[in-house]
Amino acid sequence: MLAAAADTCEVKSHGVWIAVSLDVAAIVYGRAAHRCPTCHGQVVILGRTDASGTIRVMRHQQPHRGCPLSPDTFSGRRSEHPQPLI
Ligand SMILES: [Zn+2]
Repeated sequence: MLAAAADTCEVKSHGVWIAVSLDVAAIVYGRAAHRCPTCHGQVVILGRTDASGTIRVMRHQQPHRGCPLSPDTFSGRRSEHPQPLI
């Protein structure tokens, strides 16, 4: 199984989903919808700042058992999100 990078998400730009870093998603596309590059479920970008800089993480708005980028809930079997952003 390919492990997708958890440091990117997808944003819709001019009608097309593009993969961007979480920093770009939060700063440049802060008002746009963000989706998971693996299951296409809606995600939010959370940021935490400490002495070493800002660490951003992606969280699914609705937990999804079919997404390996949600290790807390992943069932081991990949599937598309039941409510994907298209
Ligand atoms: Zn996902």
